Amino acid sequence: MTDYPYADRFEVHERLPEDGRPPEEILAELREMAGAEDAFWETGKASGTVYCGDHRHYAFMAETYGLFGHANVLQRDMFPSATKFEGEILAMTLDLMHAGAVTGTEPAGIVTTGGTGSILHAMLAYRDAAGLERPNIVKPETAHPAFDKAGHLFGIEVRRAPVDPRTTLVDVDAAADLIDADTVALVGSAGNYGYGTIDPIAELSELALSRGVGLHVDACLGGFILPFGEELGLDVPVFDFRLPGVTSISADTHKYGYGLKGTSTLLFRDGALRNALYFLDTGWSGGKYLSPGIEGSRSGGLLAATWAGMVRLGRSGYRRHAARIFETARRMIGAVRSHPELRVLGEPTFLFSFTSDEFDIYHVYDSMAGRGWRLNGQQYPNAVHMAVTRPQTRPGVAEAFAADLAEAVEYALKQEKAGEAPMSGAVYGGVPGGLTHEADDFIRQVMAGMLDTQQSLPPSAR
Ligand SMILES: *Cc1c(COP(=O)(O)O)cnc(C)c1O
Repeated sequence: MTDYPYADRFEVHERLPEDGRPPEEILAELREMAGAEDAFWETGKASGTVYCGDHRHYAFMAETYGLFGHANVLQRDMFPSATKFEGEILAMTLDLMHAGAVTGTEPAGIVTTGGTGSILHAMLAYRDAAGLERPNIVKPETAHPAFDKAGHLFGIEVRRAPVDPRTTLVDVDAAADLIDADTVALVGSAGNYGYGTIDPIAELSELALSRGVGLHVDACLGGFILPFGEELGLDVPVFDFRLPGVTSISADTHKYGYGLKGTSTLLFRDGALRNALYFLDTGWSGGKYLSPGIEGSRSGGLLAATWAGMVRLGRSGYRRHAARIFETARRMIGAVRSHPELRVLGEPTFLFSFTSDEFDIYHVYDSMAGRGWRLNGQQYPNAVHMAVTRPQTRPGVAEAFAADLAEAVEYALKQEKAGEAPMSGAVYGGVPGGLTHEADDFIRQVMAGMLDTQQSLPPSAR
């Protein structure tokens, strides 16, 4: 009961209050919650999650949201601005992904609710455009679970190609062996969520062309930072529409696009594939119904805020933030490499993952957690990662990481010698104890229990 958030501080509403509460009082409560929750990531010790962290940028986008938050973009006759916002978000992102290099087809896109939304829509488009009885997709084992969610929802078989454990990059030959006549799309990540590394997209592009299948590049994470890394002269391989086999790209405005949560872009080399998502119902008594994708009503506020945030930053703003993030990541990776007991996985840039061949890396995780760090846990092999975002570029954060990591390595050596098991394990978005080696059924129960807790009703309404 006591673990229900803020039950000790604020009134819990189990039914609508009979009379409305004063807005100032509501705002005061919300300010207190937001302030308490911001205080943690403001330290710069949380991996990923909060990509921007600039309250002036947030306030600006919130103001633009407020102008259109009530607008339903399904009704374009009333809200034509939505076409401007969505069209320009897509045009700007297509330009970033070098859609200018496309010949023979008309590039197009759709703004979705997030990375998962973009990946779901992409897989649905490939499925429906192909119209096969038993479609499958081939993804690197490291590609995001959203592809598996798409498979689950849309009846698409998901085939997983192994990665080279040294480079963390997909084994292209193994991927080739998994492609057959029912394959509707191949997937590569730029970069992947676990290691931040970029699959050999040029080779996947060749493979996709030679086998006549689509290639979706998941740039949900890297789409708004890697292009600026290339401009800054970093060694970033080409992963976008300059490669002729790349047929779609997902890039998240709500990650390194620094937008408010709730938007992402899905871009197509050929608008005809986007149009496979159109839902057209001619026979409903409520009238003829049309929508571009899975959602019905959508908020004009998110489109306006995303557009306004992008236009406010401009290329030089993105480039400046990218430079600081790459530099901070370089220093943090250097700190990891300074410990012979630790091993960085692959060749990362802005998100790095490391493990140890000498002790269970979760000892390092535990020690870092004790020092206020929220790293992300991984498995097969056990590893931890840090997605470097703007809060880490603040003064002193990289230095604190290096100092705390040195202590954590000492702690891990001691724990390993004493034969102690670590306290933590790998779950996306939360870390309960000692799970990685338990049976799958038990882990699923624990995971479902976590969701039960997160989605629970107030105590006495249960
Ligand atoms: C975050 C992420 C996704 C999923 O995005 P959501 O916005 O969480 O739905 C997909 N792919 C990669 C590489 C990601 O980092």
